[in-house]
Amino acid sequence: MSALKLSGIGHAYLGRTVLDAIDLEIAPGEIVALVGPSGCGKSTLAHIAAGIVDPQRGQVARCYARHGMVFQEPRLMPWATAADNIAYPLRLSGARRAERRERMHAAAAKVALARDDLGKFPVELSGGMRQRAAIARALVVEPEFVFFDEPFTALDQALKRRMQDLVIDAAAAQSFAALFITHDLIEAVRIAHRITVLDLNGRGIAGDRALPGIPGAREDRTVFETVQHFLHDDPLFGHINDVDERKVA
Ligand code: ADP
Ligand code: MG
Repeated sequence: MSALKLSGIGHAYLGRTVLDAIDLEIAPGEIVALVGPSGCGKSTLAHIAAGIVDPQRGQVARCYARHGMVFQEPRLMPWATAADNIAYPLRLSGARRAERRERMHAAAAKVALARDDLGKFPVELSGGMRQRAAIARALVVEPEFVFFDEPFTALDQALKRRMQDLVIDAAAAQSFAALFITHDLIEAVRIAHRITVLDLNGRGIAGDRALPGIPGAREDRTVFETVQHFLHDDPLFGHINDVDERKVA
């Protein structure tokens, strides 16, 4: 049984193919990092997998009850407090007020958002705090699957690391499966059980690599050496930085 299974996914925008013949299977509790150069179709694949975009070809099988999503930008409602943003999915599902409060506080605790911050509006929060609220909003439904689309790309290095640890801890505690999109190989190697590489032109999955040990238990040295090995000795990662028009620290 898999949590998510994509079979033969193909998609085109305005007649231009961005994804073709994508097969990807993620097991329950498995964190898969999806890497590939900018513009190769990663976000499109995530949208298709999450059911936001209907693929033109292929099938998506979602074998989980609930999923959450975290994007590069926090996408919080500016007119609502952090607390109300986090609880919003519960409001949609019709949960009662007391239950919403309790679950909102539990989710906020997982991302170390203080009570003080919960009453603030997005504009009053730092970038890191906004992204914490966005993660809490994804976790509040107790998802069995979480889609992360380059969630930490906009954050500075030190903050990025803390946020990665937070995801690693939450995944271990809640044992959700995840598709974690990133073009930061260090991030991929820290967070995931497996890395899968999208072809440069979205023509299928170029290949995947199991990662040693378990997320959260890998030493920095192991992470560093694994990344160096991928970049210098593994042809699968040869094109990874080819067409990245953005600056990556
Ligand atoms: P990635 O997330 O890997 O950077 P995307 O999935 O965002 O890639 O985009 C893949 C390609 O499809 C890019 O060339 C992008 O410009 C194009 N694209 C993405 N969304 C749309 C859209 N809604 N309409 C037309 N073209 C799009
Ligand atoms: Mg993208």
